[in-house]
Amino acid sequence: MMALTFLGTGDVRQVPVYGCDCSACVAARADERLRRRPCSALLEVQGSKGKKTKGQEFAGKNQRLLIDGGLTDLAERFQPGDLQAILLTHYHVDHVQGLFHLRWGLNDRIPVYGPDDREGCADLLKHPGLLDFRPPSEAFKAFRLGDVQVTPLPLNHSKPTFGYLFECGRQRIAYLTDTVGLPQATADFLASLTDLTLVIDCSHPPASAPPRNHNDLNMVLDIHRQLQSKTTWLTHISHEMDRWLQLHSLPDGVCVAQDGESFIVGSG
Ligand SMILES: [Zn+2]
Ligand SMILES: [Zn+2]
Ligand SMILES: [Zn+2]
Repeated sequence: MMALTFLGTGDVRQVPVYGCDCSACVAARADERLRRRPCSALLEVQGSKGKKTKGQEFAGKNQRLLIDGGLTDLAERFQPGDLQAILLTHYHVDHVQGLFHLRWGLNDRIPVYGPDDREGCADLLKHPGLLDFRPPSEAFKAFRLGDVQVTPLPLNHSKPTFGYLFECGRQRIAYLTDTVGLPQATADFLASLTDLTLVIDCSHPPASAPPRNHNDLNMVLDIHRQLQSKTTWLTHISHEMDRWLQLHSLPDGVCVAQDGESFIVGSG
């Protein structure tokens, strides 16, 4: 069983946007539940009863994997030992800024996986503190973290960026931010899979001109149809997208995530 909790569902500006009085930002100031923090998620995997095998140090235990480190209160949300690993999609500030504080903690080191981006973000890679940056992951080269198999998937973005496919038994979740469309190889790879739940960047409402760095809803709906996902969750939402959502609804099988919301795939 895998459970994914959206810790943050906002784009780089978050919602409400500082100084903005649009209807989405006003609503989010009035109702905490409508706020959108930096885009990140927690994947929890129930450990199998099976024997521990070499290289699977977490097998048999419940695992908690943090996807992206943009929340600035990570040290309050997680106790030492809570996180078995951190997976980074890329090194834009809104996806790593919380690590600048967490790294100076006193605790066992936390393995961190991510794409090959030697410049990373400022001096994070030079002064990692307790963050144990593993050698950059390779596209389509699956690795195991306990009971979950993780496959890095290249995305289209302004920095080297990976989405991740998480597989546990027959259950599959693909987490795809930040991206505009999908590289053909990633789309082909995902189209070959069944039982897929998608989580995807939908920063923009339907746009007439193709966006540059993030999906608009039209692109997301194309991907949803192409990959025949069971459910597609929208994340990395801007205030413009929230304004659009105040007036429109989404097709069946497509839902917009809110901060704190969870879904589960599989059942034991
Ligand atoms: Zn982002
Ligand atoms: Zn606004
Ligand atoms: Zn980005």
